[in-house]
Amino acid sequence: MACRLRKSSWLQPLPFAFQVAPFLFSRLLFFVASIIVQAANASRNEDVMSLYLRDVTFLDWRESKLISKNIVLDEGPLGGRRFTSEAPGAGDEVIDCRGKLAIEGLTCGHHHIYSALARGMPAPPRPPKDFQEILELIWWRLDKCLDTDMVRASALAAALDCLRCGVTRIVDHHASPNAIEGSLSTMAEAIEEVGLTHVLCLELSDRDGPERAAAGLAETDSYLSSGRPGMVGLHASFTVGDELLSRAVDLARKHQVGLHVHVAEGKVDQERCMLEHGKRVVERFADTGALEQAGSILVHCLHLSEDERELVRRAPVWVAHNPESNQKNAVGTFRWAGLDPERVIIGTDGMHSDVIRSARAAFLVGKAAGGLDPSLPWNGIWNSQRLLERHHPEAVRKNDLVLLDYDPPTPLVAENAVGHAMFGLDSRHVHAVIAAGRIVMQDGRVLGIDEADTMRYCREQAERLWSALAKT
Ligand SMILES: [Zn+2]
Repeated sequence: MACRLRKSSWLQPLPFAFQVAPFLFSRLLFFVASIIVQAANASRNEDVMSLYLRDVTFLDWRESKLISKNIVLDEGPLGGRRFTSEAPGAGDEVIDCRGKLAIEGLTCGHHHIYSALARGMPAPPRPPKDFQEILELIWWRLDKCLDTDMVRASALAAALDCLRCGVTRIVDHHASPNAIEGSLSTMAEAIEEVGLTHVLCLELSDRDGPERAAAGLAETDSYLSSGRPGMVGLHASFTVGDELLSRAVDLARKHQVGLHVHVAEGKVDQERCMLEHGKRVVERFADTGALEQAGSILVHCLHLSEDERELVRRAPVWVAHNPESNQKNAVGTFRWAGLDPERVIIGTDGMHSDVIRSARAAFLVGKAAGGLDPSLPWNGIWNSQRLLERHHPEAVRKNDLVLLDYDPPTPLVAENAVGHAMFGLDSRHVHAVIAAGRIVMQDGRVLGIDEADTMRYCREQAERLWSALAKT
């Protein structure tokens, strides 16, 4: 089926500009307000100071170089990061970083916080026979049992997990069909409590009927109107009818944000699309204008034709690669060919929060499937950051930094950094995490939040969730 990319949405006529202006203004207002609040908090705190990291080796992923110097990080969401040869200032907190490797805070390009309490949960009533049954017997049963407390616990658990892996930014895709209203702000507040930034969305779908689809649209509209960084989420083509898809695209246009949707994760997505719409999934999205929304994330993209790859490559969208989830669900193997490698990002699909581990898995899967340059998955980690810088700058802070206790038995130089990343670097090397210029984790200990108490709360909510699940 022939389909063409439409002209960019910024070429819409003037009345549309008037439509979106209030929402762009609300995003700006929220951003400015959050800075003012944090600045006010900082001024009340006599301990506010810059962090002075003495003798640190910084791995600069943009320039592919290693810089050994002192780094000063100013506190606050707009705090700067600069190299210096000068001595620390009188009020600076000095950290001796000899032997430490520093990288920017990592980004998880596709997470499912709602699955954080699934670890170790009771087995489904029978073993799923395919991907559709994995959804029906496991994930769609679980997400229906989530209430607001469980959503909050899931967000706290996932945010803490991210922190331990050096991840300071989460791009999440959420589902809680029986606790929709307020779910995104509940998650946002919990993630912020741990010290991370986020780009959230709610999974819109027709799988639970028109009322929940409408509630999802309302929640998304309300959340995006609040000015927090977010996207318009859709589950996948095969659970989204034409009317909902059209309304989701309208909502994304209204707020000038991207869509975040699973694409051809299983063959069922393509089969149902051909059956019900007479075209393939990416062609369907292109025909509705969904691919025009710059910054959209197409997740998985396993079963694409060459024409679909071309459509994706030409559109201003990003592809999220989740190698371990693909293996777990036995849905297929990701192919890099025909896609723009600079717009492939690495996600975990909710399995865990360790993007370095996922990048390594992406390398191994690609290698086994016929060969892959290891720099592609390594760059995929940083592509997520480029996506945020371009489309959600409010979620990126220059003063987020991860200090690694990485003491390799072989020389580490800029030219072999990818080799170290793929064969040596691991989240167990995370020594400290600095978010917005403040140390939020050090020596495996989370600061600013009672970790033991929080994990106890999470386990209580997990028990409630599993008990509810047993009754379904
Ligand atoms: Zn996913």
